[in-house]
Amino acid sequence: MMAGEESARWFARAEAVLPGGVSSPVRAYGGVGGTPLVIQSARGATVVDVDGNEYLDFVGSWGPLILGHAHPKVLEAIEDACRRGTSYGAPCMPEIELAELVVASYPGIEQVRFVSSGTEAVMSAVRLARGATGRDLIVKFSGCYHGHVDHLLVAAGSGLATFGQPSSAGVPATFTALTRVLPLDDGTALNKLFAEDGKRIAAVVIEPVPANNGLLLQRPEFLRALRSLCDRYGALLVFDEVISGFRLGPGGAAEHYGIRPDLVTFGKVIGGGMPVGAFAGPRALMRHLSPEGRVYQAGTLSGNPVAMTAGLATLKIMTQEDGWRRLDELGRYFEQALTAALAGSAVTASLARLGSMFWLALFAAEPPRQTERIDARTAGVYARVFHTLLAKGIALAPSAYEIGFLSLAHSRVDVDRLAAALGAALSDPKLARSVA
Ligand code: PMP
Repeated sequence: MMAGEESARWFARAEAVLPGGVSSPVRAYGGVGGTPLVIQSARGATVVDVDGNEYLDFVGSWGPLILGHAHPKVLEAIEDACRRGTSYGAPCMPEIELAELVVASYPGIEQVRFVSSGTEAVMSAVRLARGATGRDLIVKFSGCYHGHVDHLLVAAGSGLATFGQPSSAGVPATFTALTRVLPLDDGTALNKLFAEDGKRIAAVVIEPVPANNGLLLQRPEFLRALRSLCDRYGALLVFDEVISGFRLGPGGAAEHYGIRPDLVTFGKVIGGGMPVGAFAGPRALMRHLSPEGRVYQAGTLSGNPVAMTAGLATLKIMTQEDGWRRLDELGRYFEQALTAALAGSAVTASLARLGSMFWLALFAAEPPRQTERIDARTAGVYARVFHTLLAKGIALAPSAYEIGFLSLAHSRVDVDRLAAALGAALSDPKLARSVA
């Protein structure tokens, strides 16, 4: 299935009035070529484009939809919330309940502030870290994406990798002068930076499960070394769990690795498909925020009752339905099915997977742990695989560096279909010849 006539017609209209035809860059097919599908509806594991074509979806709105699209109970809760008003600009019950649930779920945190996106969450957490420590330097890792806030838009993730830009135009050099970038999985570089500048570092920001430039699963020892260096030098460790938070489990990567950050950021799953972000930490840090403290942070739609209700409903259903364990099981099943399907493939490939997050590492017998180790031929091969799967009615993200997501709406039959399609695409002799 190529993008049909209706998608093409709508996308031509989009290109006239939206830069690149999209409201967020990776939705454009810059990394894979072709015309994006314009979507008209979605339910469960399926999205339907404006031509009426159905696709088995492994994008899940880039992570939020852990229950699948349009879960009936989430919809019911949202409808009910809407009938009571869509925004109050005042404290509301679902906001308080969701905060209580987050605090009860994630290790070491006592208070939460809600915002409307992951970008805002990280931007605000960094401001808080600087305000609380009185220090200026921020450390991030190459390939980790923390939203499009100016001073973190350095060596960041898929959108930028896809377009081959090291960073963004419009960000003055002075804005990033206080940001240090290190490679992932490199204890030596980490030690060196701390030895030189440790006492000036306000915070080290990391995706503990780096998922924006492939899935670069880290060695727990590296994360532990980071924790202990932060402790030794009085820098704050910020886990950006916008993707991994409430996807890996209620305690996120902190629980998975047994490492507590000082501050954590959330987004995606915590909003159940509505625009929500959050950052959280112990009271001793969070009290620095306005109105109690001197670090200013605010939002007209923050803690919005409809969005809070969607997040709350999603997390309650995940708990009631033993969702995280079931997703991990489905992930394991997928891993086995894919490993078998890749046996005869023309291109060496391996699967990086943690719970319901997955990424196919091309030209790699073992998934890499550093951005720098992703093979340069990846994007070209992925573009062909992407279109081969789309033609079979399977939607992956339109970027080689974006990960895939399983949801509770996916069945074993669905993941078998994905594994078989990937296996067939990568066994195609034409593909082998094209990269030889
Ligand atoms: N942090 C991480 C780890 C993310 O993956 C993203 C988005 N992909 C963000 C921050 C930014 O979130 P948003 O797109 O909601 O601003």
